[in-house]
Amino acid sequence: MAEAHETILEVNLNALEQNYIYLKSKLQKKTKFLAVVKAFGYGSDAGIISQKLQQLEVDYFAVAYTSEGVALRKAGITKPILVFHPQIVNFKTIIKHCLEPSLYSFKVLEAFQQIAKEFNQANYPVHIKFNTGLNRLGFNKNKIDSVISILKASSVIKVKSVFSHLAVSEDLKEFNFTNNQIASFKRIADTFTKNIGYKPIIHLCNTSGVLNYPKAHFDMVRCGIGLYGFGNSKEKHHQLTPIASLKSIISQIHDITEGDSVGYNRAYVAKKNMKIATIPVGHADGLGRQYGNEAGFVYINQKKAFIVGNVCMDMIMVDVTNIPCEEGNQVVIFNEDQSAENLALSSGTISYELISSISQRIPRSYIDN
Ligand SMILES: *Cc1c(COP(=O)(O)O)cnc(C)c1O
Repeated sequence: MAEAHETILEVNLNALEQNYIYLKSKLQKKTKFLAVVKAFGYGSDAGIISQKLQQLEVDYFAVAYTSEGVALRKAGITKPILVFHPQIVNFKTIIKHCLEPSLYSFKVLEAFQQIAKEFNQANYPVHIKFNTGLNRLGFNKNKIDSVISILKASSVIKVKSVFSHLAVSEDLKEFNFTNNQIASFKRIADTFTKNIGYKPIIHLCNTSGVLNYPKAHFDMVRCGIGLYGFGNSKEKHHQLTPIASLKSIISQIHDITEGDSVGYNRAYVAKKNMKIATIPVGHADGLGRQYGNEAGFVYINQKKAFIVGNVCMDMIMVDVTNIPCEEGNQVVIFNEDQSAENLALSSGTISYELISSISQRIPRSYIDN
């Protein structure tokens, strides 16, 4: 790994490939793999990540919003792209860029049909989402007959897939809840397939679903966090490698004495003589205020240095009293060994939030051998 000379997010595409191979090894050969690359590829870089995965012959991509799908097309992605949460105002853009919308309510289904008709589409691929317990997006299962009759009457759209989303697949204490979701989805998928008259792709599992519920893989799985190196469970972690490393440097070191304060609001007051290092990464870079006041930490010369005082917009100050170091030395905020998940947990959040928050102003660099 290269030495950082500024704050940088290093993205390891070899690790991405290994994570992909590992997740694929959990599937049957015929099961398709959809890579979730929403939110800039969970904060890394959606374009580069998707290009790599396209080379590895992933079957499908998904993003949350239409603009993210357009960005993938501009990055040269030609595989199908599912848009999980499209807005009606973007339906023309969806069609223009051959993106495939998730339709989850009668309102969006009818609006999409209307626009597809205006643009003279035939059999435009769409994905029908059912709610099986997350209560976020999706048709109610009681509405399945009306959904099917609308779809059967339409020649402008064709159902490419039927799907749902698990609420708690990472938590084995909720085994019963998840099994009920799986059973309910299976009934929906069977009824749908029987009545629509052709066989759409059926899919349910996210990363934790893939790892914990092999019987629920159906025709395709949708993996996000696993590709980026997190498995949501301690045992699985050693087979998945975090692909992103956030590194920085020490800009300045201050020697302070007992009673001196550090940072805004004088939030930290030294109880003894101390050495404090200032690092150019702050809440505008994605390291939120919750990491301040000795909750969060970084690593300097392999030693843990706690963040003292409040996180500033562009900087943090850390306690290096007992760490031999000098200005210009490398700082690791997270990497393969110092997991973003541990840092996130230290401050009451989860890996997903920390990694996807890393701001676009931080330059990215890539490892790919
Ligand atoms: C984000 C998302 C996923 C990916 O979930 P991971 O836990 O990151 O694997 C899958 N499906 C839907 C609908 C999502 O919104």
